[in-house]
Amino acid sequence: MTEVTDVIVVGAGLAGLVAATEIADAGKRVIVVDQEGEQSLGGQAFWSFGGLFLVDSPEQRRLGIKDSFDLALQDWMGTAGFDRDDDHWPKRWAEAYVAFAAGEKRDWLRAMGHRIFPVIGWAERGGYDAMGHGNSVPRFHVTWGTGPGLVEPFERRAREAQGSGRLTFRFRHRVDTLVMSNGSVEGVSGSVLEPDHVERGKSSSRKVIGDFTLRASAVIVASGGIGGNHELVRQNWPTRLGTPPKFMISGVPEHVDGRMIGITEAAGARLINRDRMWHYVEGIRNWNPIWPRHGIRILPGPSSMWFDATGKRLPAPLFPGSDTLGQLHYIMGTGHDYSWFILTQSIIKKEFALSGSEQNPDLTGKSWRMTIKRATNKGAPAPVEAFKQNGADFIVRNDLADLIGAMNALAGNDLLRLDHIKAQIEARDRELTNPYVKDAQVMNLHNARRYIGDRLIRTARPHRILDPEHGPLIAVKLNILTRKTLGGFETDLDSRVFGTNREIIRGLYAAGEAAGFGGGGVHGYRSLEGTFLGGCLFSGRNAGRAAAKAVG
Ligand SMILES: Cc1cc2nc3c(=O)[nH]c(=O)nc-3n(C[C@H](O)[C@H](O)[C@H](O)COP(=O)(O)OP(=O)(O)OC[C@H]3O[C@@H](n4cnc5c(N)ncnc54)[C@H](O)[C@@H]3O)c2cc1C
Repeated sequence: MTEVTDVIVVGAGLAGLVAATEIADAGKRVIVVDQEGEQSLGGQAFWSFGGLFLVDSPEQRRLGIKDSFDLALQDWMGTAGFDRDDDHWPKRWAEAYVAFAAGEKRDWLRAMGHRIFPVIGWAERGGYDAMGHGNSVPRFHVTWGTGPGLVEPFERRAREAQGSGRLTFRFRHRVDTLVMSNGSVEGVSGSVLEPDHVERGKSSSRKVIGDFTLRASAVIVASGGIGGNHELVRQNWPTRLGTPPKFMISGVPEHVDGRMIGITEAAGARLINRDRMWHYVEGIRNWNPIWPRHGIRILPGPSSMWFDATGKRLPAPLFPGSDTLGQLHYIMGTGHDYSWFILTQSIIKKEFALSGSEQNPDLTGKSWRMTIKRATNKGAPAPVEAFKQNGADFIVRNDLADLIGAMNALAGNDLLRLDHIKAQIEARDRELTNPYVKDAQVMNLHNARRYIGDRLIRTARPHRILDPEHGPLIAVKLNILTRKTLGGFETDLDSRVFGTNREIIRGLYAAGEAAGFGGGGVHGYRSLEGTFLGGCLFSGRNAGRAAAKAVG
């Protein structure tokens, strides 16, 4: 027998959970379908660092940061670079989203018990002019409890709704088709996968043991992006970023397979901006992997020296943490798909953070005692030390010649020359004699340390890289790490999906990464960071509220 409900949500990640809880709270019945098991509830958000873009928050004000809607919108537009006809809805979503981030976002979350770590991070600092890419001020608000701390309130609301019978989960149900009738979406059908109690994040069995059909007046597609599917990433790779990298690692679990995007497209939905993506260039191979090709992104502070595969320092303003896609563009232009950090023990200790809930047990475990060690500890945080010791991409040596030799050995070539690299490091080191300098990266360090958050836990006191007092020397081979899909299904502000004929498809909604975090690409070309989880919250909420209203 075909089950009938008010709304079906495809995907139990953050966007799906937010949408479903809004529907249940509006008194409607909702079924949430996910191809993974119950242990994976929350999708990527569980693994995330929980960083959220907020504007003019009390936490910012407490640190003396003066932010405003106007400043944030200026940064967003300078970063997005909207320049296509297809950017009509993405741009409207961007305006609405910045207003949400400067308005009710924090209070809405807080009322559900969400809390924020008080030191605000400064991601994507740009380095161009005021109207160019980047955050003019720190805005990256880390959730106290990281990703799991953000999933928690929505899971709680979902479990309550489950208890009252308004929300039903169907795990291990993989949607293969959208059921259409006269151009409207009326349900979903697909395969029931065999039970698999594999650990969260690991790849689960795809063996089919049955099929299912569900009917509803509305279907919300919240199935995530394509980052776990390197074939799709390569197919959609934009020519403006050169040829796709030969070697990539995965910043997302394998279930981020993009399959549902093809299925929704086949039903007539209009996918826009598919060539816009957000991949990182500071990826390191996980020595203790959970999912296939598992890579971790270093969230770097500003001091490491960055060299391309041939040993040439990256040009200004491509310093760590300034412009992710600018760096990707530069690196792909070198003809190699990796680059190098060279740094000191003093830098790694203060500046290396690893993105991911499992890499930050202090914040994820909500332990003040452990978190305070970020400012006071003699060594780097334990997960960073573990990478330094076990990570295939880390080299630690006391002497620069030995370091360069080991870097060449790791790369399997002899592209790096000691005299070339030494000259560049010594030149940079000479700039530290005066408090005023011409080296733009060193200038940047002085600027960063004027922000108390950076001085406390993010930017090492400027020192010479070749000063043995700050050693040993460390080199890190940086790989390209797939993560986010910036394009997606074109929607209006109610998350209703447009068809290829530019008409709304009745009954079809999209939210989260599948909708380009709103409208089909709320970020345009680039992100200010902390905007992905927030995009799932906002588009999931809009989709849930609109669908609940529409089903009457
Ligand atoms: C390590 C890591 C760190 C991150 N850190 C941050 C951060 O600090 N700040 C930030 O803003 N963002 C961050 N992100 C990004 C953010 O977590 C994701 O973009 C976001 O969680 C995506 O949520 P979603 O609900 O759209 O999709 P997902 O979480 O991918 O959920 C989609 C769900 O749909 C299911 N599904 C897919 N296809 C089907 C189908 N055919 N049938 C049934 N089910 C299906 C999947 O199994 C999955 O459970 C991070 C991501 C990772 C992995």
